[in-house]
Amino acid sequence: MIVVKSLEELSDNPFTSPFALVPTMGNLHEGHINLLEIAREKNFLPVVSIFVNPLQFGPNEDLDKYPRTLDNDLEILEKNNCHGVFIPQENEILKNIEPLEAPFADKLCAKSRPGHFNGVITIVNKLFEVTNPQACVFGMKDFQQQLIIQHLIKTKQYEIQFLSAPVVRDTNGLALSSRNNYLTNKQRTEASKVFTFLSEIQEEIKLSFKKQKKTLPIDLDTIKDNYVQIIENKGFKIDYLEILDSKTLEICQNNSTKILIAIAVFYKQVRLIDNLVVDLSSFS
Ligand code: AMP
Repeated sequence: MIVVKSLEELSDNPFTSPFALVPTMGNLHEGHINLLEIAREKNFLPVVSIFVNPLQFGPNEDLDKYPRTLDNDLEILEKNNCHGVFIPQENEILKNIEPLEAPFADKLCAKSRPGHFNGVITIVNKLFEVTNPQACVFGMKDFQQQLIIQHLIKTKQYEIQFLSAPVVRDTNGLALSSRNNYLTNKQRTEASKVFTFLSEIQEEIKLSFKKQKKTLPIDLDTIKDNYVQIIENKGFKIDYLEILDSKTLEICQNNSTKILIAIAVFYKQVRLIDNLVVDLSSFS
């Protein structure tokens, strides 16, 4: 496994093409490892970057306590036959960085975490510039982030193939996340209800769609409002629960086919996000 820690080493093009960049903040789990598999399935060598990006954390967020487990991460990557790792030095990567503004600034996570996605695309753009990958892999768990990176690739006209990886979950349904480490086992079991809620909302949408002879609009607002109550009554503090067109992040139109159910909740002060996409075209 090729481990690169400086821009100087990168300038010698140490990674073998074609490779896919897999940006991460470390503290790797199965969700991250699956991104490597997705790269390989498409015949790209996986190159993982590990960087806890200070630009994407707000002033009252968990930058300082975010889990940093570099030695273990490297072991995991080695075991999983990762081709390369890039561990940028903070001062090098931030030097002369071009600040970028992310689209969808008034939607979902961008609303409650102002500046978060600007920080994400600013760094991802720099990572693209310095590593020059032929592809990149991002997880569906961060649905809005995927749309923003796709937009970045398009506007900058990068020749980088965008690969999307499905959400990897614990057996109880909880989406894997480094932030789950803040919870005890018992709390994680409780937190897995978030996925149960999403699944129930999915079923309600499908049912209403069928009842209405497979046409939109269905009363998504009522479904949503009911679930806001149910979820809050179970001890979760809702940051947002939204049912939107998955392509535009706007309210669903009559011709919407893929409907995004996206949620962010605080559970024991830990912010958890998850989503499901309901494909109405698959049963119309
Ligand atoms: P992070 O280290 O949390 O910034 O995540 C790095 C990448 O891993 C992002 O593309 C995430 O969407 C992806 N990722 C994190 N957790 C999961 C998961 N449970 N399933 C799929 N992808 C994930």
